Amino acid sequence: MTSRLNKTEKIVISIVTYGMAVLTVILLFISGFRPAGLVFLALGLPLVLVATTLKLTGCIILALGTSAVALPFLVFELHAPDLFLAFVAMSLAIGGGIGLINQRHEERKERWRRAKTLDDRFDDQIFESALDIIHFVDKEGTVLKRNESSRSVLSYPTKRTLQLSEYIHPDDIDQIKGELLRLFERGEVRDIKLRFISQDKKIIPVELRATRVNERVGVMHARDLRRQVELERQLMETEARYRYLIEEAVDTLDSGIIISDKKQQVVWANKTIGEFFGIDRDRLIGIEIHRAFDRYVNVFEDSQELRARVEEAITTRARIDPYTCHVRPSMGREERVLEYRSIPIETERYKGGRIEHYIDITKIKQLEEGLLEKTHNLEKSNEKLEQFSHVVSHDLKEPLRTVEAFSGYLLEDYRDKVLDEEGIDMVTRMHRASGRMRELIDDLLNLSSIRMDRASFERVNVQKVLEEVKDDLEMRLRGVNLQIDEDMPTVRGSRIRIAELFSNLITNAIKYNDKALPTLHIGWLRESKNKGMCTFYVKDNGIGIEGRYQERIFAIFEKLNPREDYEGTGAGLAICKRIVEEHKGEIWVESEVGKGSTFYFTIPTVDARREVETNA
Ligand code: ADP
Repeated sequence: MTSRLNKTEKIVISIVTYGMAVLTVILLFISGFRPAGLVFLALGLPLVLVATTLKLTGCIILALGTSAVALPFLVFELHAPDLFLAFVAMSLAIGGGIGLINQRHEERKERWRRAKTLDDRFDDQIFESALDIIHFVDKEGTVLKRNESSRSVLSYPTKRTLQLSEYIHPDDIDQIKGELLRLFERGEVRDIKLRFISQDKKIIPVELRATRVNERVGVMHARDLRRQVELERQLMETEARYRYLIEEAVDTLDSGIIISDKKQQVVWANKTIGEFFGIDRDRLIGIEIHRAFDRYVNVFEDSQELRARVEEAITTRARIDPYTCHVRPSMGREERVLEYRSIPIETERYKGGRIEHYIDITKIKQLEEGLLEKTHNLEKSNEKLEQFSHVVSHDLKEPLRTVEAFSGYLLEDYRDKVLDEEGIDMVTRMHRASGRMRELIDDLLNLSSIRMDRASFERVNVQKVLEEVKDDLEMRLRGVNLQIDEDMPTVRGSRIRIAELFSNLITNAIKYNDKALPTLHIGWLRESKNKGMCTFYVKDNGIGIEGRYQERIFAIFEKLNPREDYEGTGAGLAICKRIVEEHKGEIWVESEVGKGSTFYFTIPTVDARREVETNA
């Protein structure tokens, strides 16, 4: 209400209205008609009229001004100051009230006006600065309004409107026409991919979505896909490069590889596959894995079984762990033994695919077979040798016993009757020799009879075994300082043979000792108890063994010292070695001439049963 008149107009209206009112009152007063109500009415009316054009302050000033005009009439002429005060109150009430209403109204209008301007500006800003190309189009696709993005991408800077044929790729015109039809029918279309053409004939791939604004206009948002398309192209290029590298690498492998994807199609078969199966590997690529398998399965001897396994693994998506298959020789194909594996691919991208893997193990198999045959032959000949030595020893014992017995009778019963000095000496030597030969044969028999059935191995308390050995050797141990560790462990093996082993070593330690007080220490290495074997030792302060003989002494009938000095056949350590080996252990010596020797050997610990059995 206040905004329609300008300031001058308001002043003119006020002056005119008030002038007329004051004039009317003066005239009436002069004519003698001077009621107080006349002043109230005549000045009140212009106040109401003029106040409607003013704001709050203006209205207050106007009310005070009107009161000032009423002052001479009411106070000086009518001598009614109380009426004057009532007039002032009335003026202020009317002026203030109208002013307040005006002010509120004005403020509301101002707010609305500002909001509207902001809205307009804001919409326009969004439209102009949007990253997407925005086109307002009609039903024919003609662009009615377009934003800054459109101008910078498509160019045509001066054109207000654009025809469909000007900005859409010719091959996509039909598609866009169809989409426009749908847009005005349904109100919205989205996810449309097509190409724009710029003024300089550049192709711009875009993704479109559009909404209908009214019956004839729609708004179309197009996202420029050039960057995305470029990135995709680069990615594909890199992938292709890596793929090429991988294919090259796979081709150089010695093992045959077939890779299939999640659609169960063969994506790659390397060169080696062609070589192994005598086929053109290219014929496998791109076909379904079952059909590819059909093309080479007949090269295998056990094709039926392999087919069944492969079919099952493919359908259940299971893996096939090493499976040995034989390739039949033929034209352009060698006989081979292959180890086959089939592994499902777990990586997200190729999930559902498989890798078929064939390793040529022909040479390994040949070596393995050769080795098996050799071991078998060796075992056989060992067995025969043992049988032979057993039989021979047995057979020899009989005539030997006769020689020994008769030479004994000769010496006892005929010494003075038929034999002179020389004859006695010869028969004595013959008797001694046959006795030694008996010992040798006994040792040989003992050695060849050491064959242990590992199933019969038992827990052997070494501490106890040593107590028994000590008792057996009581006589020999007189004058010997023997120390035995008190925590000897329990082992697994043959109790009798372990006793024999300790007994032999202790006997040697005493026998080959030149010290006034022979000292022996029997113990075990605590740190040795891992890997299922325990190391024991027998240490003496005897004559010692030269380094070069330290291995030889374990061979049968090897003696280092003259028989006259030390009795024995030289079979003791060979027997020890055999016992230890039957327990899958080892024996060795560390020694220093003049200072003493330590014999070490290993025996399975009590919890190593399985290991010994599997090694057997
Ligand atoms: P032998 O019947 O001669 O004792 P062994 O096989 O028991 O036969 O020992 C072979 C050889 O090893 C012995 O002749 C001896 O020279 C040497 N030998 C064995 N034990 C010891 C030892 N504790 N100290 C020194 N030499 C030893």
